[in-house]
Amino acid sequence: MSKQQLRRNIAKSDQFNRMGFKETREAAEGMMTKEFTSDMVKQMLENANTLVRGNVTIKLAKAYGFCWGVERAVAIAYETRKQYPDDRIWITNEIIHNPIVNQRMREMDIFFVPQEGMKKDLSGIQQRDVVVLPAFGATLEEMQYLNNLGCRIVDTTCPWVSKVWHTLERHRKASCTSIIHGKWKHEETVATSSFADAYLVVLNMDEAMYVTDYILNGGDKAHFLEKFKNAMSDGFDPDTDLDAVGIANQTTMLKSETTAIGKLFERTMMQKFGPAELTQHFVAYDTICDATQERQDAMYELLADKDSIDIMLVVGGFNSSNTSHLQEIAEHAGITSYWVDRPECIGAKNTILCRTSQGEEKVVEDWLPMRSVTIGLTSGASTPDKVVEDVLERVFMLSKLGQPSGA
Ligand code: SF4
Repeated sequence: MSKQQLRRNIAKSDQFNRMGFKETREAAEGMMTKEFTSDMVKQMLENANTLVRGNVTIKLAKAYGFCWGVERAVAIAYETRKQYPDDRIWITNEIIHNPIVNQRMREMDIFFVPQEGMKKDLSGIQQRDVVVLPAFGATLEEMQYLNNLGCRIVDTTCPWVSKVWHTLERHRKASCTSIIHGKWKHEETVATSSFADAYLVVLNMDEAMYVTDYILNGGDKAHFLEKFKNAMSDGFDPDTDLDAVGIANQTTMLKSETTAIGKLFERTMMQKFGPAELTQHFVAYDTICDATQERQDAMYELLADKDSIDIMLVVGGFNSSNTSHLQEIAEHAGITSYWVDRPECIGAKNTILCRTSQGEEKVVEDWLPMRSVTIGLTSGASTPDKVVEDVLERVFMLSKLGQPSGA
């Protein structure tokens, strides 16, 4: 039985819920509106995505913030808490990549499965418990374990992520190895790889070029196996498993890079096997999610006129992959950009704790010019508008305090 079939069988169980709970939906929506929406952001939307306060002008990207997959996952978690007020509820990972939302989960007495490195400890979960699977899914092994235990499973996996899993099934049927453009450690890619038979995860164009060079020219097999030791299926053999490949991705990668990697593999297979045999050696389906694409496109649009923006603010969890790519777009455009994950990143003495797309965290002093300044703004797909508002309030306060009159 294929891995997808195993997953479908688990999903058919009476103990498995992936639609949330109608009975508690209204109450959950009310809580989310109160906790996560922002009047300030609404005001910006009514004013051509612009807000002016004192010396600071904010220009908000056209697409930003909570995507529907994240909103749906958080809503289902809230519904679950309301539906089972007295039961013990677990979540197998962060519900989404936002520290403030995850903190809310803890405050609602939802327990996070302990994890050390890549290893999760599911042993605390008992049969009578409820277990929520996060927006970026869970591995087949976790699903099987929880199903065998007989606990109630509430699956919030985003349908865009499941779409990638279906794509892997198509690769399998076409006898192709799945080349997954993603970060092998990222929870979504860990879950996605668990549904693939033969797979190889490539992080970026450099790794993709290493692999395509091996396909065309061969190379040092031991070096290949060492390089991808954490990023390939058990028993992977680059001499035989790269004869036919299909492209898949972590849904939140930089779209332009996924597309370029797909084209590189297509060209490579064409070169090796010739155009007539290409379809037997290469398949690709578009699996970048719309929300990721829209936020990236909106960043390009905002930065098209980058001379009108002094600095960029990118708001989103530091472990959020889609947010890192928004920051990356700003960095590539050569604009000074600060990625923050919470209001407290903005210090009262004009400091900012921020992160680069390469993962370096640093504190920058005197980051906000004490003059008239225009700030481009976006937020990752797992960032509530309320967090954006709280960040902006600190920016406005800082600017106000920095004025000569102090007024
Ligand atoms: S970013 Fe895309 S794949 Fe991820 S949760 Fe949102 S809609 Fe789903």
